[in-house]
Amino acid sequence: MIVVVTGGAGFIGSALVRMLINETSVNVVNVDKLTYAGNLASLAVVEGDPRYRFVRADICDGQAMTELFRVMEPDVVMHLAAESHVDRSIDGPSDFIETNIVGTYTLLEVARAYWSSLPPQKQEAFRFHHISTDEVYGSLGDIGSFTETTPYAPSSPYSASKASSDHLVRAWHHTFGLPVVITNCSNNYGPYQFPEKLIPLTILNGLESKPLPVYGQGTNVRDWLYVDDHARALWTVVSRGEIGETYNIGGEAELRNIDVVRQICDLLDECVPHAISKHELVTFVADRPGHDARYAMDISKIKRELGWEPRESFEAALRKTVHWYIENTRWWEDIRNGRYAGKRLGLQNIA
Ligand code: NAD
Repeated sequence: MIVVVTGGAGFIGSALVRMLINETSVNVVNVDKLTYAGNLASLAVVEGDPRYRFVRADICDGQAMTELFRVMEPDVVMHLAAESHVDRSIDGPSDFIETNIVGTYTLLEVARAYWSSLPPQKQEAFRFHHISTDEVYGSLGDIGSFTETTPYAPSSPYSASKASSDHLVRAWHHTFGLPVVITNCSNNYGPYQFPEKLIPLTILNGLESKPLPVYGQGTNVRDWLYVDDHARALWTVVSRGEIGETYNIGGEAELRNIDVVRQICDLLDECVPHAISKHELVTFVADRPGHDARYAMDISKIKRELGWEPRESFEAALRKTVHWYIENTRWWEDIRNGRYAGKRLGLQNIA
């Protein structure tokens, strides 16, 4: 079986590629443009494996995608390539519109033409799996959680672009019959996450005794899922999910941002003791515009229908994650120094 993974050099994509190579027998073609967020160093463990191939390409390039499908003849497409950082979408939405909406549209059209040309047996087995976020559902009050039928109400340019792409994928199924599955997942964390996101930024700034920025009063609530649990869920859905269905994925670990930061401070104080506690570095900064108050996922459908559930507790997996960043300085120092396959980024700008 040949699985094309778009965005496989990113945080979740690389975890998925490593899992597919290490734990299944499929062949993987990783298609990635290598933006600032794409890093081939995250795939060093699968480099050279005869079942793994990397193709540098832009999903917005219809010709390149058509050629890729013609040559690789995928059985499955797992589409993760995206611009993924909310703050960047506020500073400059255009890449988000281009990659997340136009790129998904381009890929759908190429996949549709390819799928239409397949013999019936291969057509039946083909899947287009679109990977999305819980942020499409908007913001919750103190109670309740998002189900697969919660109406979309995205707040940021990022979530609006992902919501658009979800709608396009559903339309290509309903209108053209393309065999799709969609997953919407909560916040991921774990090794190899680009240090602009809350958990790696807090760990690395903490290690370097820099301020630990927290938006507003840190009361925004997110559900957290360990990235390897997400990779397992994605493979479960694409292998056994019902065509045309959406599955919510989450960690059942709802936490306020400030409590996540405090837990990281405790772990750093324990692992790398210092005269000054990391708690003293916590710095409250002006809130993000349009900051959603709370996300929470109802994951009963994927549990009930496909038997997936998260294996990792937040406490244990956060500890593993902190240890990973302490032990893998080379990976993130290369990012801070700009020596990786992406462009240099000044991390001090990112809160
Ligand atoms: P990421 O930013 O770490 O990686 C994105 C990857 O896509 C990078 O390797 C980048 O080079 C590649 N890419 C970007 N534009 C491209 C283009 N035009 N053509 C080809 N490749 C391109 O993102 P992530 O955190 O790994 O997220 C992956 C997917 O999962 C995204 O679709 C995101 O919306 C979704 N998601 C993320 C989270 C999360 O917490 N990180 C949660 C739910 C859903």
